[in-house]
Amino acid sequence: MERCPLCRATLNGAQTCRRCRAALQSVKRVEREGEVLVDAAIHSLSLDDVMTAERLLRRALAVHAAPEACALWRLVKMLLRRSEARSASASDFL
Ligand SMILES: [Zn+2]
Repeated sequence: MERCPLCRATLNGAQTCRRCRAALQSVKRVEREGEVLVDAAIHSLSLDDVMTAERLLRRALAVHAAPEACALWRLVKMLLRRSEARSASASDFL
């Protein structure tokens, strides 16, 4: 987090906003939790485990809808649609 979510002052890593004095420890903790979930989702994608990535990203978005989590969510949804279409067309041959 680079700016205070309340007053938009630059934080420079501070736990308390120098301008509005907001205590940001819990906000930063939530942001970190989201980052850990996004990292785990990326790891799942590297293992070709799209279902686990989807589950992790769903949790990440519930915790903190960061732009990178939203972008990965769109990618995972596209991958799932593609694999569903592929398995549907494969079942046409059975
Ligand atoms: Zn502030």
